[in-house]
Amino acid sequence: MNSASTENHIKALQQQGFALQVTDSVTTLLAYWDKNLVCRYANSAYVAWFGKTKEEMIGKITLKQLLGPDFEKSAPFVEGVLNGEIQRFEYPIKSKSGIIIEGLANYFPDLDNLEVKGFVVQVTDVTELKEAQRKEKQLAILAEKGKEMEAISSVFSHDLREPLLTIRNYIKQIHEEYGHHLDETSTRYINAIFNAVDRMDLLTQGLLNYSILSQARQKNMLDCSQLVNEVLEQLETAIFETKTKVIVEDLPIIDGYEQNLKTLFSHLISNAIKYRKSDTPLEIKISAIPFESGWKFEVKDNGIGINPENKEKIFKMFQRLHNRSEYDGIGVGLGYCKKIVELHDGVIWVESILGESSNFCFTIPTT
Ligand code: ADP
Repeated sequence: MNSASTENHIKALQQQGFALQVTDSVTTLLAYWDKNLVCRYANSAYVAWFGKTKEEMIGKITLKQLLGPDFEKSAPFVEGVLNGEIQRFEYPIKSKSGIIIEGLANYFPDLDNLEVKGFVVQVTDVTELKEAQRKEKQLAILAEKGKEMEAISSVFSHDLREPLLTIRNYIKQIHEEYGHHLDETSTRYINAIFNAVDRMDLLTQGLLNYSILSQARQKNMLDCSQLVNEVLEQLETAIFETKTKVIVEDLPIIDGYEQNLKTLFSHLISNAIKYRKSDTPLEIKISAIPFESGWKFEVKDNGIGINPENKEKIFKMFQRLHNRSEYDGIGVGLGYCKKIVELHDGVIWVESILGESSNFCFTIPTT
């Protein structure tokens, strides 16, 4: 060998060495099987998976011996690759130490003048990818089911109002035409029917409003300071009559659904007014701070507070902590608030000291 070809030979060996180093440092399982299914190469990941050493495998073991009864599953793909066709398939594989992964296997034929000399096996662990795909599918199914439920409750609550109004009208008629003939008990019954019908109407309307919250609307850039001031104007009478002090700090401009955000602030402020303490002047503070990739808003009051064990319950539809004789309501306000925040991809929660304060916090991500 002259010096130039010696140098080339060394270079080639070096390159081979680098290539082997690279294949040994990847987590993908790599092996080369000749056409008689004898192992000619296996990288570190491959031999480790099967609990062997390179010395035990290379030149010594056949694919059938390695896979044992599992060889049957791979047989059609082996046949395919020995016919010169690339094979690609997914299957669960178990390591010697008992770990099961979802493997994506590729068999590449080593062709020399159309003759198959052997094939390369490459197995990649796609367990996480498969899990993510499964979760995505489940989420899509859930979202679809959610939409279906909304459509059902929208139709249900809409149609339920008709018969309710009919009952109301007939009871009114009876009251007007025969009221003077009725004794005290019958009049009480009629009033009870009126109340029940009114309440049922409120509940169905609540359900209807909830189900149409997420119907197609347009997001806009909104100045929250201005938006909150508009809400405060609408609540002017209640604020004035209860002598409530409202402090609004600088609020950001965000991309959101205007009407929904007004409803959200309106419910939180109205609740603060409703659940105030009778012996303490009410103060409500509305503020926002940058939080993760967006904003965290707070609507804080010094009212009656919430028992920690009810912190999650209150955000469910029709869940109330008080009866109607104490505080009027149907238990939908915070259900709306939760849905509105979620429509903005945020989360809502309450921080509270029972008997002292409630701080309703929600996030609105900007990205
Ligand atoms: P409603 O006011 O009709 O009961 P909401 O869904 O708005 O329905 O509220 C659910 C429950 O959460 C209320 O019954 C009340 O007990 C509690 N709550 C809401 N806001 C406050 C607040 N600011 N302070 C104390 N309790 C509150």
